[in-house]
Amino acid sequence: MVETTQFEVQKVAQSHITQVDFDNLPFGRIFADHMLVAYYAQGQWQEVRIQPYSPLPIYPSLSALHYGQSIFEGMKAYRTVQDEIVIFRPYDNFERMNRSAERMCMPAIPEELFIGGILQLVQLDQAWVSGKPGNSLYIRPFMFGADNAIGIRPSETYYFIIFCCPVSSYYSEPVKVKIEQHYVRAVEGGTGYAKTAGNYAASLYPAQLAQKQGYHQLIWTDGKEHKYIEESGTMNVMFIIDEKLITASLGDTVLDGVTRKSVLHLAREWGYIVEERKVTVAEVVTALENNTLQEAFGVGTAAVISPIQLIAYEGTDYPVPLPTEKSFSNRAKKYLDDLKRGRIADEYGWLLKVC
Ligand SMILES: *Cc1c(COP(=O)(O)O)cnc(C)c1O
Repeated sequence: MVETTQFEVQKVAQSHITQVDFDNLPFGRIFADHMLVAYYAQGQWQEVRIQPYSPLPIYPSLSALHYGQSIFEGMKAYRTVQDEIVIFRPYDNFERMNRSAERMCMPAIPEELFIGGILQLVQLDQAWVSGKPGNSLYIRPFMFGADNAIGIRPSETYYFIIFCCPVSSYYSEPVKVKIEQHYVRAVEGGTGYAKTAGNYAASLYPAQLAQKQGYHQLIWTDGKEHKYIEESGTMNVMFIIDEKLITASLGDTVLDGVTRKSVLHLAREWGYIVEERKVTVAEVVTALENNTLQEAFGVGTAAVISPIQLIAYEGTDYPVPLPTEKSFSNRAKKYLDDLKRGRIADEYGWLLKVC
């Protein structure tokens, strides 16, 4: 356990946890009792406080609402079989948050505020980390420009807030995805590598068009030629072709996922050839046609690993083999679940113990 600064706490008069049905948790709509709120002004973080989850007093001129200086992170805390609480790789989220902040002209968040704040908040709301199979506590740190002024320039004031949502395993049937040939998620020199609000706003319309055609989400391609595969929905995407694991390399346009990094690590440890490079639409379509595409799946914190059952390209729907017990994606999913539940040793030091 890490010793950290203790922030001032104002506790709820009464927890509302007794009103929550942990067997029936809609994603992201139920909130734990407390939140951490920090305010930045005059070049420094001040007024850090843990308080009841509650509305914020904001003015209509709040700069983030107009010009989108807004970034976020997402990670999960788990209750292990030893009844301890652990968080999966939060230092990676911490570093990524600050990369996003830099890109959006926002101040850096110190480690004692990000990591220390999460530790203190999750410790306080530890009852909200359910040990039921598949359940976890989703942690949402975010920051936004807080100036009350319109005018396009970086805000001088910011809020950094952390709240938590109890969530259940994000089971969904294997997804049907469409390779997008017109709209783009990210361009070179753009903000694709940052977890910033506008990226998600811009993806809603094309995703909705695909949903109207019967697909769950899109496979995003590069913004110049639509020749290279980048991500799937809001997950990184991986393919197993001829026993090799292939995924888009990182850069401006691909988000550096913590799940991606972890799954690639496991693949290498387990002896797979891993190729992080430009992945062409053509090679994936050829592999689908030749039946050499063995697995396709998205990876990200929410669903961890989400198998793809169908890929659509230029009007043709190509079925993808469904994962079996022996599939890499199932093996990786099981390994990560066993690790987070304390059923196997944390051999790579991926868990941070909260309490
Ligand atoms: C958050 C996110 C991911 C997954 O990142 P994780 O750290 O694994 O949760 C992938 N792509 C996009 C666009 C994302 O926003």
